[in-house]
Amino acid sequence: PDDILRVRDLSTRFFTQEGQINAVSELDVRIERGEVFGIVGESGSGKSVTARSIMDLVESPGRITDGEIWFDDAELADAVGDDYPDAVDGTLVNLLELPERVRDSLRGTAFSMIFQDPESSFNPTLTVGEQLAEAVEVQRRASANPRSTRARTREYSLASYALSTVLPSRKYVTPESRERAIELLELVGIPDPVKRADEYPHEYSGGMLQRAMIAQALAGEPDVLIADEPTTALDVTIQAQILDLLDDLQAETGMTILLITHNLGVIARMCDRVGVMYAGEIVERGTLADVFDDHVHPYTEGLLGSIPDLEGARGRLEPIPGNVPSLLDEEMADRCRFADRCPKAMEDCLEHPPEYPAAGSDHHEARCVLAETTYDETRALSEDHFGETE
Ligand code: SF4
Ligand code: MG
Repeated sequence: PDDILRVRDLSTRFFTQEGQINAVSELDVRIERGEVFGIVGESGSGKSVTARSIMDLVESPGRITDGEIWFDDAELADAVGDDYPDAVDGTLVNLLELPERVRDSLRGTAFSMIFQDPESSFNPTLTVGEQLAEAVEVQRRASANPRSTRARTREYSLASYALSTVLPSRKYVTPESRERAIELLELVGIPDPVKRADEYPHEYSGGMLQRAMIAQALAGEPDVLIADEPTTALDVTIQAQILDLLDDLQAETGMTILLITHNLGVIARMCDRVGVMYAGEIVERGTLADVFDDHVHPYTEGLLGSIPDLEGARGRLEPIPGNVPSLLDEEMADRCRFADRCPKAMEDCLEHPPEYPAAGSDHHEARCVLAETTYDETRALSEDHFGETE
């Protein structure tokens, strides 16, 4: 398959006063070019940390401690190959081997992210049009000349992700970028975009601001759009409209979407393949049909037993009895993390953490002893898709 991203053995930890928290542990996932891949799980399962790890937005005291994030981009491989030969393998680039300034330059152009709360993406003192124009202009310069514009791109990245630290500026607004800003507003379905471009974020409704945030994320024509609970804060009608919009944009641009949500209704509606996350691990992954109809992992079964429909999307999932295990390093036992809540737990589950066998087709895998019986025979298939394991 044509994978645009291959995340291997990714671990992201937080070093707190209470100790080391293993928010994401040895996570493996591959995302195909042009698909919508969903990560679903309860809050605290590590979904957002995974997204932030890919975006290089993990904040202190958190840090990626292990792993590889391979991004397939021939142009990038070419541009960085001489300076960072260890980071490049053919057309693949291991983002974790790149220095920060290069990773910064990828934010917005290769990867963009949208959040639950669009206000965090906008500066209240500039009009929406000015901010979109600035995004367009900065990203345009970055793609025209990746090397010389890294500093400016960094400035822009900081502006959009931590705007509180940056003073308002209009220095990148040009007539062309303003025009493109208006086009972007139109693209995301904002009526009367010429007029709306001159309004400030507080003049937008929640749904409109969500659209504007998507427009901002698209300014640099990213290859991968990461959407973290993009509709959770919206009411049901608006939520459906935003999902439709993402669907349409995906079809139009062919971009890849990584969709993160606790809502299985959203997953069912949007995704081609899905990974179910629990306690910092992906416990089952496969196509929508694999995971919804042929799931192996009892946690997936539990989640599906409590599936809310899209209409009920604002509600929380019915809790599966028991507690999510501590992710504090010293309290983590060497066994299945779902064992304490699992209705099917057996002796074996308490002895060692289950490995990743293939369950059924080569795309469908579950981290559970119930799937391990055919492990040896299917390991070769699995290696085909994920590379050698250990
Ligand atoms: Fe349940 Fe055992 Fe599978 Fe863990 S490995 S999910 S405890 S059956
Ligand atoms: Mg989250």
